Amino acid sequence: CGIVGYIGKRDVAPLLLEGLQRLEYRGYDSAGIAIHSSGRNGGLKTVKAAGRVRELEERLPARFAGTGGIAHTRWATHGAPNDTNAHPHLDDAGKVAVVHNGIIDNSAELRAKLSADGIALASETDTEVLAHLIARAQAATLEEKVREALRYVEGTYGIAVLHADFPDRIVVARNGSPVVLGIGEKEMFVASDVAALVSHTRQVITLDDGEMATLKADDYRTYTTDGSRTAASPTTVEWEA
Ligand code: GLU
Repeated sequence: CGIVGYIGKRDVAPLLLEGLQRLEYRGYDSAGIAIHSSGRNGGLKTVKAAGRVRELEERLPARFAGTGGIAHTRWATHGAPNDTNAHPHLDDAGKVAVVHNGIIDNSAELRAKLSADGIALASETDTEVLAHLIARAQAATLEEKVREALRYVEGTYGIAVLHADFPDRIVVARNGSPVVLGIGEKEMFVASDVAALVSHTRQVITLDDGEMATLKADDYRTYTTDGSRTAASPTTVEWEA
C-alpha cells in the first residue's frame, strides 16, 4: 500500500514514521520499518505491528538509530493482517529486507520451490519470496541480485530493498505500482506517493515500469531491469502545503 525510504545523515526512524503518517489517508492494516542500524553490531533491525503507525512507533526500542531505512503500510492481499505478515519481509538470515506494494502472481509456486529447497517461510505473504530470492541470488552487487530475483517473479510491484552487506544504499524497482524518488541535499528519499516526500524535497523522479534505481546519500542512478542506464532527471513538483 504505502512505501517510504530514506538514506542520508539524519536519524531515519522519525523521518520514516512521519512519511508513513502522510500516507495513512490511503488506508492500511499494519505497518513496519527496517533500518541499517548504527548500533555497535550494525546489521538490519526490523519492527512491525498490526494496526496504526502509532502502534508501530510505540513498539520501537529506545535505541533504534540508523541513517538508512525503509518502511511500509500494508493493505493485505495474501495472508491475514497481523504482525508477522506486515512488511518489511526478511530472508532467514535477516540480511535482506523488502517492502512491497502490489501482488506477486506466481508466489504460490515460488513459495513451494523455496520450501522444497529447505527455506522456512516466516509469513503467509506473496512478498516474502522476494527477500529469499534476493538473498539467494548469485550476483555480486545488490542491483544485480535484485534484478536476478525479479526475473523469477510475475506480477506487480513497487519495492524497496535493504541488504546488510550494502549499508550505503537502497535499491528500488517498479512494475505496475508507483515509485517516486525524492532528491535532496546529501540525502535521498523514496516513496510510493509524493505526499510522503514533499515536506523534504520538491525534486522528484517518477520511475517507469521496468525501471530500477539505486539511492545513496549523495548520489542516485536509474536503470532498467536489464541493467541499461536511463536518463531520468528530477522535476519540481508543485504542492500546496
Ligand atoms: N501483496 C502484498 C501483501 O499482501 C502487498 C500488499 C500491499 O500493497 O500493501 O502483503
